[in-house]
Amino acid sequence: MSDIQRCDAVVIGAGFAGMYALHRLRDDLGLRVRVFERGTDVGGTWYWNRYPGARCDVESMYYSYSFSAELEQEWEWSELYPAQPEILAYANHVADRFDLRADIAFETSVESAEFDEGALEWIVRTDRGETVAARFLITAVGCLSASRIPPFPGLDSFAGEIYHTGEWPHEGVDFSGKRVAVVGTGSSGLQVIPKIAEQAEHLTVFQRTPAFSLPARNRPLGAQEVAEFKADYPARRAAARMAPSGVPGIPPVGSALSVTDEQREQLLTERWNRGGTSFMRVFNDTVVNLDANEFSAEFVRERIRDIVDDPATADKLIPRGYPIGAKRICLDTDYWVTFNRDNVDLVSVRDTPIEEITAAGLRVGDTEYAVDVIVFATGYDAMTGPLNAIDIRGADGVALRETWAAGPRTYLGIATAGFPNLFMLTAPGSPSVLVNVIISIEQHVDWVADTLTHMRENGYSRIEAVLDAQDRWVEHVNEAASRTLFLQGNSWYLGANVPGKPRVFMPYVGGAGPYRKICDEVAADGYRGFTLSAANPESATSGRAVDVPAGN
Ligand code: NAP
Repeated sequence: MSDIQRCDAVVIGAGFAGMYALHRLRDDLGLRVRVFERGTDVGGTWYWNRYPGARCDVESMYYSYSFSAELEQEWEWSELYPAQPEILAYANHVADRFDLRADIAFETSVESAEFDEGALEWIVRTDRGETVAARFLITAVGCLSASRIPPFPGLDSFAGEIYHTGEWPHEGVDFSGKRVAVVGTGSSGLQVIPKIAEQAEHLTVFQRTPAFSLPARNRPLGAQEVAEFKADYPARRAAARMAPSGVPGIPPVGSALSVTDEQREQLLTERWNRGGTSFMRVFNDTVVNLDANEFSAEFVRERIRDIVDDPATADKLIPRGYPIGAKRICLDTDYWVTFNRDNVDLVSVRDTPIEEITAAGLRVGDTEYAVDVIVFATGYDAMTGPLNAIDIRGADGVALRETWAAGPRTYLGIATAGFPNLFMLTAPGSPSVLVNVIISIEQHVDWVADTLTHMRENGYSRIEAVLDAQDRWVEHVNEAASRTLFLQGNSWYLGANVPGKPRVFMPYVGGAGPYRKICDEVAADGYRGFTLSAANPESATSGRAVDVPAGN
């Protein structure tokens, strides 16, 4: 093992999580940090997802770092919901401002990471032949970064162009005069479809499951509202950190079953007209009670019937058979109205799937749809995909992907038993994808930074989750999910979009604020559920066994 570089921590990924981890550990803790990033620059999700229409559906004033008052005051967001180019510009601004690129190796993928128990070091190897030894390994690989094109027979035979929304070419795609297919109608599909329809000669949308979507009602931000927001930023950030969704909102009015039909209709109409996902939080039981859920679901179905001119097309677009919110709710701009255009067709592949890709296009049953371009908006091997892509081996040489063969198991969604000194940011078992993920990222990174500080101050050099604590956390995560309607949709939250993937509800539904409290309590209680030890066992004492909170 010649040419091994040494540092204190290796961070995998230079998206929003990796960037903040580098800043905190290097600039606040004074650690030597090395970051590996497979892209040519920073930004993670927002580096890769350059498809037309890509936009975040968390409001920009909240979908941004809160760790620097100067940064949040100086940066100007132009719209209520930030578009991909603006978020990427922001990521670049942060990288410049905090001199992050100096410690990031771009166009470099980590292939393996193996824990050396003797040296208490992770040995990290990259596809460029680099080997780095570091006391700590921090994965910041993202939850939705392993993009996935289903293995349709004949894929390689297609004579035209193929794109995936999550790996969009930097130079963009010109659809003018082309016949285009979009496969997939999740959040990405719903954003890209209206944009392609405006440009393409003809667009055919291949839909397996119709989505529930809410109008974004995006708009420019006014100077006055931005000034007011910035003046009040500390209080609003504090509220965001403790809010279940990571964004402060209007409190629910109560149960959907406790109001009259007229009141319910009025409340839902108000939120629909306001735009955004707060429609899902008008009532406190929309995602936990099927009867309550049905009111919101039917409200959306009615809007589809209102908007789409052709009743047969409207009927195909109407989501049925699963609760609204059980699959990730979408926000759109002009999605359903796009199906009123003469150059757009909808093909349902629910009962008759896409059987093969031919040289000329896509074959569904006996019909071949000839196209010049296929855009796959078919999603990701979510949450576990990016971690399992790396050969991560723990204390006894066991691979993480083998340990997680029946589904991911973590303690607090950040650590896993058998893998000492490994911190996984926004991993399965954390709220991450269910909340404002920037809030989740900052909370995880700050918690890791505090943990490393605690270890340094107390002479610890090894930390590992206790199996029993992990088992109880997994149980708690499952039990919390079972009290919701989330288990009733075939979502990527459950791994249902990847054939053969274990059906496990991966994120923690307890909410950002309550989860933060649990993590803080664990730390305050001497890192309950972790074993802490020193390289020299005599210089420090061991950690305590766990008592995971029973509910949220
Ligand atoms: P997705 O939600 O997983 O949607 C994938 C789509 O492809 C689904 O409609 C799926 O149908 C379809 N599909 C998959 N395999 C197929 C097959 N073999 N044949 C036909 N259709 C197939 O992926 P996504 O739209 O990229 O979104 C992923 C997540 O990224 C979102 O849920 C969200 O968290 C995030 N995102 C956020 C934003 C935003 O903030 N606005 C935008 C984009 C993405 P089924 O439903 O039947 O599986």
